[in-house]
Amino acid sequence: MAFVITSPCKGELAGECLAVCPVECIDKGEDQFFIDPDLCIDCGACASVCPVDAIVEEYDLTPEQEPYLEKAEKFFENR
Ligand code: SF4
Repeated sequence: MAFVITSPCKGELAGECLAVCPVECIDKGEDQFFIDPDLCIDCGACASVCPVDAIVEEYDLTPEQEPYLEKAEKFFENR
């Protein structure tokens, strides 16, 4: 399981999440940050500091937010 960064991050790119992630699994994409779902240890630290509440637990994703998990998987696919 992992946390997922969703639409409010787009264009916001606040970056507080980067500083608190203990496993450094957050990386910058073109218009938003992404969490590597394979490395995230599900601690929730990033979600509590996000100023725009963009970070959601995988199991709490709404159908509209689900594509953001796929986007994250694709982003880290060839890394
Ligand atoms: Fe990093 Fe924890 Fe957020 Fe996962 S839940 S991205 S491990 S800070």
